[in-house]
Amino acid sequence: GSVLEIRDLHVSVGEGDEAKPILKGVDLTIRSGETHAIMGPNGSGKSTLAYSIAGHPKYTITGGTVTLDGEDVLEMSVDERARAGLFLAMQYPVEVPGVSVSNFLRTAKTAISGEAPKLRSWVKDVRTEMEALEMDSAFAERNVNEGFSGGEKKRHEILQMGLLKPKIAILDETDSGLDVDALRVVSEGVNRAKATSSVGVLLITHYTRILRYIQPDFVHVFVAGRVVEEGGPELAEKLENEGYAAYLKADADAA
Ligand code: ADP
Ligand code: MG
Ligand code: MG
Repeated sequence: GSVLEIRDLHVSVGEGDEAKPILKGVDLTIRSGETHAIMGPNGSGKSTLAYSIAGHPKYTITGGTVTLDGEDVLEMSVDERARAGLFLAMQYPVEVPGVSVSNFLRTAKTAISGEAPKLRSWVKDVRTEMEALEMDSAFAERNVNEGFSGGEKKRHEILQMGLLKPKIAILDETDSGLDVDALRVVSEGVNRAKATSSVGVLLITHYTRILRYIQPDFVHVFVAGRVVEEGGPELAEKLENEGYAAYLKADADAA
């Protein structure tokens, strides 16, 4: 199995005098087959954590380490991170003008595995995965993210994950903007990937709703750039009932 280790990660956003520390010592370990939920209030730095692991240039690592199976992720280019087996579904995926979903997926698969997938089995895999996600086959010919609805973006993310078979997947706000049907389909897609390729999942969310469909093994409460509490699935229930107020107060008192 694989292991993603985040140790004492400190990250700032902005330049020079404007630089603002966002992550203030994050420690997390995610292994193959495990699902970790990160839950926290808006503005606590959850997306910053995802973007930092993805290698987004806006975020400056000011301390700590991120390794995948002992390899230094922070030294890798964005492409190298994907080839190493990291998958990051972004909260606001970008449009890729003039590139169809079908070509995009095949190009990504080729880049990650180092060789073009065999056409027949690939076409079959794409079709199977799309049917499982209740996606119309015409979707494959549309341009990536062009006019995609919220639900289509999320399905496209999970389609990518299902086909690219990463070692570790980071899903940021996969539940935002989904109706109940789309949430179920997307969650089933994540669960399928867990069952078939034992992907390790870091599921970042503001709401407990998705955790009814995707059972986390571990729940981490994230406040003001740090993990402030860790537990099992029962912690999600506590958050559902009590919210983040007590954690935010503790943080304010400490400041
Ligand atoms: P969350 O995902 O938990 O809602 P974010 O990581 O999006 O939190 O944001 C954490 C903090 O960092 C917020 O105060 C936000 O305004 C700030 N921030 C995040 N990204 C940027 C950016 N690119 N430029 C300026 N500020 C940012
Ligand atoms: Mg936010
Ligand atoms: Mg966010």
